[in-house]
Amino acid sequence: MQLALRASHFVDPATFELKRDVLLLIEGGRIVEVIEKGEVSGGLTGLAENTLDFEAALVMPGFVNAHAHLDLSHMHRQIPRGLSFDEWIDAVIAGRQVPGEQVRNALEQACDRLIASGTTSVIDISTDGASHAAMLEHNLSGVVALEVLGLDPAKADARMEHADAILRKIEGEDKFIVGAANNQPVQIGFSPHAPYSTSAELYLNVFGRCVGEGRVCTTHVAETLDEQQFFRIAEGPLRDFCDRLGIPMGGFTGWDESPITTMLWEWFAPWLKTETETGNPQLVLVHCNYPQGQDLDHLKRFKPTVVWCPRSHAYFGHEEWPLADMLAAGVNLCLGTDSLASNDDLDMLGEIRAAKRAQPQADLTTLFKAATINGRKVLNLGADIADLCVFGLPLGVGADASLDRILGALLIQGAPVFATICRGHVAARAL
Ligand SMILES: [Zn+2]
Repeated sequence: MQLALRASHFVDPATFELKRDVLLLIEGGRIVEVIEKGEVSGGLTGLAENTLDFEAALVMPGFVNAHAHLDLSHMHRQIPRGLSFDEWIDAVIAGRQVPGEQVRNALEQACDRLIASGTTSVIDISTDGASHAAMLEHNLSGVVALEVLGLDPAKADARMEHADAILRKIEGEDKFIVGAANNQPVQIGFSPHAPYSTSAELYLNVFGRCVGEGRVCTTHVAETLDEQQFFRIAEGPLRDFCDRLGIPMGGFTGWDESPITTMLWEWFAPWLKTETETGNPQLVLVHCNYPQGQDLDHLKRFKPTVVWCPRSHAYFGHEEWPLADMLAAGVNLCLGTDSLASNDDLDMLGEIRAAKRAQPQADLTTLFKAATINGRKVLNLGADIADLCVFGLPLGVGADASLDRILGALLIQGAPVFATICRGHVAARAL
């Protein structure tokens, strides 16, 4: 046996129900047995190669950070608050002009931060694929989504070839086997950047490719009202931004429709499953801050993953995030940190705390699921995968406290991360 783990409290990744006095037996990266209230004579020694025995601890499914840009980590606290969205983009573009070593060092540190705070998987947007090696090295799993952008349709093929070259370098030149990406701990996906920066041709090219090869496709969408204006009529502050930077627009004049509806209904619909319970979790829409018109109907029809980044959302001073509408639409709700260029850390517990602060009526279990097991649906990870986070039981919480009481205390008081376990491997341990 790879690992035997005993703890006073365990949130079952399959049901999100609380179990008490459990012994987990882990083999081959999977939880093969959960023994409740069982006596183990002579302790755990001899049961497995590794043993962890916690008297007062909460074992949870590890956090899945559904949206990050690890290659912006060197900009931590470098970008002032209070910038408008286009001013912020300016600052990020400027911030990318630093030596590669600085970017790589900060990326490594970001992986350390993720593991130390109980995150086991991350969906990272990457310009050059550098996070792939770093994530593997730190035992993180998830997706490295290669970013593509460009409004000029004539350049769509060239942009795709560039991303393809990075992909071949990572995955090798062998003939691709459909579904093979799903079996890798760190999968390669694609990320068309955003509707204000990426042509329909490039979106279609990428999405068809992702569906064909079983890869995750993630994109920013409906992030700002400026984006809505630009996407509909090619005017406004983002048009000025393109003009100022001399970004070729390839004759773009606007779609006269909202980006979410255009994307789901006009572009991706032929590839998407409809009226199924499982929906389309591998299509990961980030932000969706301003749904308009028929957007919510299409979100309900196709049920993609939708990622809320509460602290990044607060950084930009957006209107209240449409949580109730998204839950009513039945999307696969996930949480993400976004980058350290618009967030102060990568701690998912902090993200849940910010979500609850912004919307006190939000159900705690719903938020914790959004930060953990909902992300597993994107990555196709079963409930038995031994990606776990072990928190010390918050002080003052009785052994028979309800899950809601424990999660509430975890948010208010915080608690140390005793261990982070990735596929049964103890990746970080505090005690
Ligand atoms: Zn982002």
